[in-house]
Amino acid sequence: MAELWIDDTTLRDGEQTAGVVFANSEKVRIAQLLAEVGVPQIEVGIPAMGGDELEAIKEIVALDLPASILTWNRAVISDIEASLTTGAKAVAISISASDIHIEHKLRRDRAWVLESIKRSVDFAKSHGLYVSLNAEDASRADVEFLFQFARAGKEYGADRLRFCDTLGILDPFQTYERVKALIDEVGIAVEMHTHNDFGLATANALAGVRAGATYVNVTVNGLGERAGNAALEEVVMALKHIMGHDTGIHTSRLRELSEYVSRAAGRPLPVSKAIVGDNVFAHESGIHADGVLKDPRNYEAFSPEAVGLTRQLVIGKHSGSKMVKFKFREFGIELTDEQADEILARARRMAVQVKRSLFDKELMYIYQDYLRGNGKS
Ligand code: MN
Repeated sequence: MAELWIDDTTLRDGEQTAGVVFANSEKVRIAQLLAEVGVPQIEVGIPAMGGDELEAIKEIVALDLPASILTWNRAVISDIEASLTTGAKAVAISISASDIHIEHKLRRDRAWVLESIKRSVDFAKSHGLYVSLNAEDASRADVEFLFQFARAGKEYGADRLRFCDTLGILDPFQTYERVKALIDEVGIAVEMHTHNDFGLATANALAGVRAGATYVNVTVNGLGERAGNAALEEVVMALKHIMGHDTGIHTSRLRELSEYVSRAAGRPLPVSKAIVGDNVFAHESGIHADGVLKDPRNYEAFSPEAVGLTRQLVIGKHSGSKMVKFKFREFGIELTDEQADEILARARRMAVQVKRSLFDKELMYIYQDYLRGNGKS
């Protein structure tokens, strides 16, 4: 199987999320964490913005992390010159590939786009930079023009082509076909950049990999414009457990990484967030909890330790008496079947009253009430 590289854009596309700003110190800390968990390439920002953004990028480059540091640039020389001042050795050079963008955003034509690719990629390569040529809005581009776009990049030495589903409008089957055609036709390394507008970002990233893409651009927690990007933790775990590709990321630190980015972004981690949410290893229903107690593999796709979470067995409306006995054994109390049934009945009633599962302390109060003969089931 081909080598597969994760490159993270939490600090660029992630920070472009409306309402999200990282402090410079947070940008530096996130870059350090990404390098520590084993992300081989980190897209850190846009040097042409100048100011704090440029300072943060310089600070990250100066850390000499064990990861390639990549900056984002428009396909113009002045942007790449700004990147050169940071000391970064890799650049993303971005320009639109779709006619709708070329005509209605850039207000130019296809020939101008190809000329811009030639000038900017040539300039970057002549300064010894690693180049990812980003085909913005590739998913809406004319197929033949996208081939021309990629061929132009390849001709001037671009190291890879970033296939951007900028609006997140492809499905995994379409993604597979387009990426496969691009690789077959042009023979350039392809990177996936997918958005989550229809909830398909991770699926589309995987489809691209199946078609032969060897780089996947992701963000922690799927942070990113609008509905966000493909989530690092989802892509890494799905590649490993569904497709059998180990990206070398230290997955046991994924929860720690997600928590930090969530705090820095001011975006709480949803409890049901795939891979790293609080609820991913919480079991309440009697049948599931009993199954997990017998063997966790009955109801867990991977172990909680694999992503830095812990299993939680909670008592609530859907619990069974076996779980109650198990829970009290954890507290050092051995219940009889009769006691467990009675406590379960009271616990279920309370769970409906408070509309949630119960805290351990609440279970103890129920038990103490029961012992004192207070309250009837
Ligand atoms: Mn994007």
